[in-house]
Amino acid sequence: MEEECGVLGISVTQNEFSQPDIALQMYYALYALQHRGQESTGIALFDGNEIHSIKGMGLVPEVYSKDDLLNLTGDVGIGHVRYSTTGDSRLENCQPFIINYKNGNIALAHNGNLINSEKLREELESQGHIFTTESDTEVIVHLLVKEFLYHDPVEAIKKVMSRLEGSFSLAIMIDSMIIAIRDPHGFKPLCFGKIDGGYVVASESVAIDTLNGKLIRELEPGEIIIFKDGTYESSKIPVKKRISHCVFEFIYFARPDSIIDGQLVYDVREKIGRELAKEHPIDADIVSPVPDSGITSAVGYSDESKIKYREGLMKNRYIGRTFILPGQSLRETAVRLKMNTISQNLSGKKVVLIDDSIVRGTTSKRIINMVRSAGAKEVHARIGSPPIIAPCYMGINMASRDELVASCRDIDGIGELINADTLGYLSIEGLVKAIGIEKSKLCIGCITGLYPLKIECEQCE
Ligand code: SF4
Repeated sequence: MEEECGVLGISVTQNEFSQPDIALQMYYALYALQHRGQESTGIALFDGNEIHSIKGMGLVPEVYSKDDLLNLTGDVGIGHVRYSTTGDSRLENCQPFIINYKNGNIALAHNGNLINSEKLREELESQGHIFTTESDTEVIVHLLVKEFLYHDPVEAIKKVMSRLEGSFSLAIMIDSMIIAIRDPHGFKPLCFGKIDGGYVVASESVAIDTLNGKLIRELEPGEIIIFKDGTYESSKIPVKKRISHCVFEFIYFARPDSIIDGQLVYDVREKIGRELAKEHPIDADIVSPVPDSGITSAVGYSDESKIKYREGLMKNRYIGRTFILPGQSLRETAVRLKMNTISQNLSGKKVVLIDDSIVRGTTSKRIINMVRSAGAKEVHARIGSPPIIAPCYMGINMASRDELVASCRDIDGIGELINADTLGYLSIEGLVKAIGIEKSKLCIGCITGLYPLKIECEQCE
């Protein structure tokens, strides 16, 4: 499962940072959002006359040099880290998208996926719009520019929002104005906070923490917030759509120190572990996580079950992207480079192995085999989500339905395939209880096959 994207916007008016520091602040905030996308990143700043940007393929520290950042001036800016959902992993698809139009400059950063982008693109192309990328984000930019020619920003945005189907958390810069938008379903997170001299809007609160800022609140589904001249103003489109926060933000995507939809992700993951222990108890010697996202749930499982927490797998946190190595033996070396076992902690033990989810099953099987090779006597897999049986259309790159191990197997069949002695998944009820948000306000499309919006060839709730 791949992360999606992270968006950022900063609006500083009192200029307590010296001007060049804005770009550095954005760099640090994007670094805090790096887990949401590792393919490319971009920063765009408005200097009072025009937009200047730096964009590139790779991780935040690889793309920006200190000198480039110090030369990027302005008081307002937006930024992005990307994992491609629509559009290839190419520099042209890097965000923010920037367009100069008749009335000014516009830059846009998007987290999410539009399910009606092809239809909208065809319509715009038939009206003479020319697209330079395959990305659904460019469709939003064209729609906005079209409406900005005839309406004030809020009216224009409301008109565009009413046409978009799917998930979108957006940071938009129109000259010196920053606009944050969360889609009416509230699929993706988006929050804002106060920093010295201004405001920051970000996919996750960790970006605000990094800037020593204070979280004000999250945007509500369907909310539009405009930051300008040291103040902000909120408006909303009437939400006729079902609120549908993505449960995988809590299970896997978001950082544990982020607050998502009012819940500290760390607390949710710990409760997931506790619920798992209640639903799937087992006689074992140690509880051990698959790092990193299984760690907090393993702590919860251990606390609830009173089975000792002991790490048996260690992830190399300093590894960047690795290229595909030729030959089985080199590929196995690359796997061991990413994750190693602590055989002293595993040898002769009955191990409860906690992971966040199973997608194809290949990674789980490889990890369980590593734990067995390190001497574990038994391996009992406990999974902090219900089985993923259907794809995501809202911007999470999981796998096709055929590739999902749970789409055509029962629990015993999956357990056998991944080589676990026993396998237990968290129930939907247990997950909802751990998240603490009522089920009717959560998206659980990929674990039920029933989606909160109409998707051709899929069932709608
Ligand atoms: S389908 Fe699954 S991954 Fe996609 S938004 Fe819904 S809960 Fe999240």
